[in-house]
Amino acid sequence: MEKKRVFIVGGGAAGLMAAIMASRAGAAVTVLEHNDRPGRKICATGNGKCNLTNLERPSDAYRGTNPGFAEKALEQFPVEKTIEFFSELGIYTVNKNGYLYPRSGQAASVTEVLCMEAASLKVKQKTNVHVTQVFWEQGIWKLRIDGWIYEADAVILANGSCASNIPGSDGSGYEIAKALGHRVIPPLPVLTGLKCQALNDFQGQKKKGNPFQLWAGVRTEGELTLLIEGKPMRKQRGELQLTEYGISGIPVFQLSSYAVRAVSIGKDVQIRIDFLPGFSKEELHGCLEDRKKACPYKNTRQMLTGLFPDKLINVLCQAADLENAIREFPLKVISGLDFKQAQVCSGGVDTDEIYPDTMESRLHPGLYFAGELVDIDGACGGYNLQWAWSSGAAAGFHAAKEKK
Ligand SMILES: Cc1cc2nc3c(=O)[nH]c(=O)nc-3n(C[C@H](O)[C@H](O)[C@H](O)COP(=O)(O)OP(=O)(O)OC[C@H]3O[C@@H](n4cnc5c(N)ncnc54)[C@H](O)[C@@H]3O)c2cc1C
Repeated sequence: MEKKRVFIVGGGAAGLMAAIMASRAGAAVTVLEHNDRPGRKICATGNGKCNLTNLERPSDAYRGTNPGFAEKALEQFPVEKTIEFFSELGIYTVNKNGYLYPRSGQAASVTEVLCMEAASLKVKQKTNVHVTQVFWEQGIWKLRIDGWIYEADAVILANGSCASNIPGSDGSGYEIAKALGHRVIPPLPVLTGLKCQALNDFQGQKKKGNPFQLWAGVRTEGELTLLIEGKPMRKQRGELQLTEYGISGIPVFQLSSYAVRAVSIGKDVQIRIDFLPGFSKEELHGCLEDRKKACPYKNTRQMLTGLFPDKLINVLCQAADLENAIREFPLKVISGLDFKQAQVCSGGVDTDEIYPDTMESRLHPGLYFAGELVDIDGACGGYNLQWAWSSGAAAGFHAAKEKK
């Protein structure tokens, strides 16, 4: 019997997984990748070490217009299967506080084993081919590249997003999906730092200009509270990076999806920083009083030495109410950084138009989606790659299996 021809647009995490699964399920698979090699983004993940999955999933690990959409694919190809899959391919994982990385310490090894497996399954990996259009004509799927049109029985769009400065992240998948009549939730850059403005109740802004220039370069522990329209929505604690534009670091990344989306629809978004998390109002007051008593010769600035980094003290000392500035430093969120500086995009192909168990389009039988192109984004910690593996596996398997 003739094999079903499955074409995959994009040889990234989701596309390579889909290719392997489709091929294992009996299809003749071709991956079309416009970079000179597949998996370039995988190679950059986790600071080059690739946090490929994780052992725990908080309830808000996935975001999107309908975050629950991710469940079905994650159930079919959960973390345990991911670990087993990569282990069979030679990736021995190490556990760093619940986050899993390849023992090699090299993200490139994840790309390499995927490409080796795909090659052994006779998946055709065509590089330097940019797909400009996918369309259905005379009972067959067609994929247009410069100077050629491929024919396929099923197509998986796994183009990824327009986040990062890694070549290939051009957002062309959104245009291909739109041309097929799919709705695309406007992509926004997330897992990024946040551009902020110090609020009026922080007096230093008026006295000595932008406080961010004073604190740029500081890394310090803190707890962030995200407020949307004045309502506290979420908290995140961890190491903050104070920058010339505002704030960055993992806790900021974790809040960025909610903050950036709310700003994009005109909501008032603020962040309060607690620079001494774990101290109640009374404890902080007592702590400052004790320090004053112990060394009465010190001015406020000197009194804070040893408690906070110098540059942060310079900023805190300008506040009208020091204790308030330490516990609830007020920032207004203006935006995220640009797409090139973001790790991931929120938004993408509307999940209402995709079957969650097969990743097939509800509009076009034989058309499938996988990975970040879809309106699902994950928190930092291996959740985005896990989504790419799970949705890629579901799309690949079902694209190969469903009837021609
Ligand atoms: C710096 C950085 C660090 C990250 N670290 C982590 C981490 O440690 N853990 C984690 O879980 N997530 C991490 N992520 C996120 C994760 O890398 C992505 O969510 C994941 O790679 C998405 O997989 P994908 O297959 O959907 O897209 P991609 O991996 O981006 O693959 C899409 C592929 O499609 C190709 N393509 C696009 N359009 C076309 C076209 N028209 N024709 C042909 N080819 C096309 C692209 O070149 C690309 O190769 C990180 C991201 C970045 C930028």
